[in-house]
Amino acid sequence: MSKSVRLDWKSTNSVVISGELDESSDLSSLDRCASQICYVDFAKVSRVNSTGLKTWLQTITKNKIQLVLRECSVSIVEQFAMVPQFLGKNGIVESFFAPYHCISCFHEDQKRYQVGQNLDLDHPHIEVELKDPCPECGDVLELEQAPELYLSFLHVRSSQAS
Ligand SMILES: [Zn+2]
Repeated sequence: MSKSVRLDWKSTNSVVISGELDESSDLSSLDRCASQICYVDFAKVSRVNSTGLKTWLQTITKNKIQLVLRECSVSIVEQFAMVPQFLGKNGIVESFFAPYHCISCFHEDQKRYQVGQNLDLDHPHIEVELKDPCPECGDVLELEQAPELYLSFLHVRSSQAS
């Protein structure tokens, strides 16, 4: 299977994007969501490079797409944590994955956070250490990034809602 990006439309305004967002990425089918809400599932995007990022930013800006991002992979979260414009104007992050690793054996894991489920926007809390121990050795699974990184993009939504 090709690594380049794929857009699978589930309905007129809901799309699953998978693969790598890079210079070969064709995002033109997003044009159909111009000036509308578009639900994007980002669970299967493994990598984003600078050209892919530029294409994404151009597409959502040009079309004034109102984004609702779901199941954001670790790579995607890194993008909008660094580049807030990734979310577009008034973009919303509904759910995402945070990377954890074991402090002893470096086993890697991820935890899914969903706003309104295990993440309260009034009191957002990202676990620095997971309650469940490492499945390999029983030691502690620790968050790979500073928790503030996650709060930066969640704030976008809370300030918008007020
Ligand atoms: Zn371990």
